[in-house]
Amino acid sequence: MSGAAHHGGEPMTMHFANPRPAPLVLAVDDVPANLDVLVEHLHREDIELTVAISGEEGLALAQELRPDLILLDVMMPGMDGFEVCRRLKADPELADIPVLFLTAAHDDVEIERGLALGAVDYVSKPFSLPILKARMHNHLALKRKSDELAQLASTDGLTRVANRRQFDISFESEWLRAQRHGRALSLIVVDVDHFKRFNDRYGHAEGDQCLKRVAEALSSCSRRPGDLVARYGGEEFVALLPDTDAVAARAIGEKMLAAVSALAIAHADNSACCNVSVSLGLATVVPGEPGSAADLLASADRRLYRAKAAGRNRMIGDGDGDGGTAGDPRSGGEAR
Ligand SMILES: [Mg+2]
Repeated sequence: MSGAAHHGGEPMTMHFANPRPAPLVLAVDDVPANLDVLVEHLHREDIELTVAISGEEGLALAQELRPDLILLDVMMPGMDGFEVCRRLKADPELADIPVLFLTAAHDDVEIERGLALGAVDYVSKPFSLPILKARMHNHLALKRKSDELAQLASTDGLTRVANRRQFDISFESEWLRAQRHGRALSLIVVDVDHFKRFNDRYGHAEGDQCLKRVAEALSSCSRRPGDLVARYGGEEFVALLPDTDAVAARAIGEKMLAAVSALAIAHADNSACCNVSVSLGLATVVPGEPGSAADLLASADRRLYRAKAAGRNRMIGDGDGDGGTAGDPRSGGEAR
């Protein structure tokens, strides 16, 4: 799935939701006449249909388009339907797409093999269009439900940004991707300054509102499809910025400081400012540098603590002294 998800008009940077207006169905069959029948009879349904004339092409289109359902012919020259299904199920990013086999006959062995490979259902050829449509719609409805559940499981209930679990998953895969392709990867750890004092003075309901608005402000600062802003826990957020070098990440961090400041949420007990402010720790890994994902996170976290110690309401990144890059350099030795 690509593109930004939207929740009540709020921009989000998660990219696991399905923004399509109509579900996309990929039909794979080596006989053009069979595909013609599907195109002719399904084009008025509220689905989008894409076709492939071979197993190889079907697999390539599945990788490119991430359809919501695949109609897969079994008997095809070259890569047959079983092999296509095996490869789909072996790819974590494609394994959740339901596969409906189109089998040539009521062949129990063939049907059993297809289901054992992970196909969700089958339709025997020559198929009855009403039955094919009914099964497609059932499986598309299930897919929509499971997408919704996956989204719920990845989203922080209060702030609607990604949760810690989703961050851990994305961080691991983006780390591997950055290593594989020799790209930079940046992390910004963000913490709301003196948030306990905010809750103590204004109450937890105001505290929740504050976190929601801060999360929204932080999300608005990074808009690329791969970027992820997550609630790491409590009043701590983290921005995962793939293919982003230290200079570009610093620019995003500056925007985050400004965006939270622009919220102008009163915080009379904040030593760093009269309003709600945040402190940021920024770390970037460049290709060929030794270290692990855990090192990168630890480095960003250390810099966050330095930003706190240096007076809060500032960012500390690569090459910064303890003064950071923004805010009023009053000292604040107390815990955040
Ligand atoms: Mg065939």
